[in-house]
Amino acid sequence: MTVTRLIDRYNRRLNYLRISITDRCNLSCIYCIPQGIHNKLPHEEILSYEEILRLVRICVGIGISKVRVTGGEPLVRKGVFNFLANLNSINGITDVSLTTNGTGLKDHLHQIRSAGIKRINISLDTLNRHKYKKLTGFDKFDDVWEGILSAMDKGFHPIKLNVVALKGINDDELEAFAELSRKYPLHIRFIEYMPIGTSTAGKGTPLLTPEIKESIRGMGELIPVKNSMTDGPAERFRFSGAQGELGFISALSRHFCSTCNRLRLTASGQIRTCLLSDEQVDLKSPLRSGATDHQLAELIFHAAQRKPSHHQLNGSDASSIVSTQMSSIGG
Ligand code: SAM
Repeated sequence: MTVTRLIDRYNRRLNYLRISITDRCNLSCIYCIPQGIHNKLPHEEILSYEEILRLVRICVGIGISKVRVTGGEPLVRKGVFNFLANLNSINGITDVSLTTNGTGLKDHLHQIRSAGIKRINISLDTLNRHKYKKLTGFDKFDDVWEGILSAMDKGFHPIKLNVVALKGINDDELEAFAELSRKYPLHIRFIEYMPIGTSTAGKGTPLLTPEIKESIRGMGELIPVKNSMTDGPAERFRFSGAQGELGFISALSRHFCSTCNRLRLTASGQIRTCLLSDEQVDLKSPLRSGATDHQLAELIFHAAQRKPSHHQLNGSDASSIVSTQMSSIGG
């Protein structure tokens, strides 16, 4: 069989690969890695950087051009900066970005920049230091905030702050987050909580985009901003005169499945075609038992053909349909 381009059964062109390079994290966010549940994969179960780079080269050969490195926390894996530089030097990759919790940013901005990364997403769900500790298990708010200020200072752009909206947890801070977009050139992205894994935080009544928009309505008109190639599913807006932007990622209330262009590679070498499904195709075993590049490309192509037309969740039901923890898929 000749594998040409990753176009799925629904005519979606898949050109974006999100790579989780580790399932380990130095935080325990209540909605992501519930305290106490942290079954780390044994070292040998995690793909080596060489294995990941080989798979990325194969993916590029069949149409992937954009990659995001995530985790667990990608910055805790040894050798990550070298890996990022190697990823950036793959011919055919036009965009490499990073998602991090920001705790290690301030000490590593130089290395991140030298590896060719310009676009960083930083997860931050509260602006309150005490709440941060409760939410993540660690007193690291100041480190993250310093990292954000320092990244702005060093000219990283855009810097997106990922804020998972959680009823009863940070719904009293939506305006404060929105206000940051006036003061700083930050892109604040409100993300609807997705019921993934065994965490119970956020399940129950979800806080959806219409409600988030309503909470910040009094702050001024939300002026739509046109999406660019690297925006993904966010609906973008800005306040008049603001330096930054607001974005809404509404996986539940406004499916973007029909335009989903993503594949995910987990730290253990599984290809996932939908964040909200447990279905996966194993690449690690064939990779380690001598499969050729062509055979691996075929497996990826077949996985892509199984990508569902849409996920099965809706906004009124936040019960989990995915048993894997978000920390091992990468978000
Ligand atoms: N450690 C990195 C970080 O914190 O950004 C990368 C991994 S984390 C799993 C990637 C993103 O997934 C983060 O922005 C996090 O807030 C988001 N996330 C985790 N669990 C989520 C959930 N249940 N619903 C929506 N987003 C979630």
